[in-house]
Amino acid sequence: MFKKLFYKYILRRNYYRYGQCNRCGACCTKIYVNHKKDIIKTEEEFEKLKKLHPFYTYIEVIGKDDNGLVFKCNKFDAQKHICTIHKKRPAICRKYPDEIIFKMGASMSEDCGYYFVPIESFKEVLDREIKKRS
Ligand code: SF4
Ligand code: SF4
Repeated sequence: MFKKLFYKYILRRNYYRYGQCNRCGACCTKIYVNHKKDIIKTEEEFEKLKKLHPFYTYIEVIGKDDNGLVFKCNKFDAQKHICTIHKKRPAICRKYPDEIIFKMGASMSEDCGYYFVPIESFKEVLDREIKKRS
């Protein structure tokens, strides 16, 4: 019970994260860049972003799909399946995967070794909403 309250009201989380990284590399080799609530769709937009954070200088465009530009990170060693700057990797990589990606409309790779479980069940949320309105 304490864990649930801690996650929900102190950390303000909606999900527990379980699992571990299996080094599949998906999050380093198929990346969408979200800026100001929108996915970057053109190289011109991306060029402007490069000045904002060093992470953007690590990645390069490898394609484009219906969502927007697709990037891969040049710091990923595809043979050894490791991040070559692991100890100095950016905060965004340290935190990945974070539940915020769901709010951004993104999803995780099916190969990812992590998974998320809602802190509250659907019934608990429903009961709370009914209680609020009664
Ligand atoms: S910096 Fe490292 S962890 Fe972050 S995307 Fe690049 S290879 Fe992956
Ligand atoms: S997608 Fe998940 S399992 Fe794969 S490298 Fe990234 S964090 Fe690790």
